[in-house]
Amino acid sequence: MANKAVFLDRDRTLIEDPGYLSAPEAVKLLPGVDLALKSLAGAGFKIVVVTNQSGIARGLLTEETLEKIHGELRRQLAAGGAHVDAIHYCPFHPEGTVEQYAKESELRKPRPGMLLQAAEELDIDLSRSWMVGDSPRDVEAGYRAGCRTIRVRIPDASPTVGQESDESVQADFTVRNLVEAARLIIRQADAAPAAAPTAAPAASPRPNGREEDLMHDSEVRREILRYVRHLARAGQHEEFSFLKLAGGIAQILALLALLNVFWRLLSEAPAQQTVVWALIAVFLQTFALSLFVLHRNR
Ligand SMILES: [Mg+2]
Repeated sequence: MANKAVFLDRDRTLIEDPGYLSAPEAVKLLPGVDLALKSLAGAGFKIVVVTNQSGIARGLLTEETLEKIHGELRRQLAAGGAHVDAIHYCPFHPEGTVEQYAKESELRKPRPGMLLQAAEELDIDLSRSWMVGDSPRDVEAGYRAGCRTIRVRIPDASPTVGQESDESVQADFTVRNLVEAARLIIRQADAAPAAAPTAAPAASPRPNGREEDLMHDSEVRREILRYVRHLARAGQHEEFSFLKLAGGIAQILALLALLNVFWRLLSEAPAQQTVVWALIAVFLQTFALSLFVLHRNR
């Protein structure tokens, strides 16, 4: 049986993006990336990084430097117990200044070449695989390869513009980070293993892309639970109602009537009046209890 994979964009999906990353020392994993990759690997997914590296065509870094950068990326992941199975990059760009790289390439996202290449090498079933990235061109590349797609939108970060890509191709899901993406992928794999999309003709936009802001981060869940408990507590303090007030008044009157009965018994008042006051006390007590029961059951 062919493998399933998660294809990952690199910058702003796995690591921070300082612009054209050109030194290994600048590699900085985004929070939770190692955990996300470990859980995906544990769920049986191959992990493949697919990254456009037009900086090579522009003469900003060499393939040797890029290898060192990716060595540092692998080292940092390994320190957290995570790994990637392959890293594919596209060094080409038509406006490049380094002659050997200055050309169009099928590898460059939003084209799906890197995903197709990796699928060939690692025996990957693309219809059971996912593409995760922050940019519209990541989404389009995944879609064109026949994968399901997740767009990472980092809160408070400037949105990634859709360079060279068709903005009408929407991601199947939108999340805030790779941890959420991993949870979503694993949940979907558990829920519907056969729900694979069929590969559509290249570049035809998906008509009803579904976006879903996933609020299943445990931190958020805890926060919601805390808030609900706070509301419940506040509710307990704000149980004032007319029924409760009337019940309280009736209860006080019942006690006063009872005291009156005792006083009459001690002062040898006429028995008939004492009996009347005793009946009044019983009535008031019953009335008070009825009001309390009504209040509790409303
Ligand atoms: Mg990116």
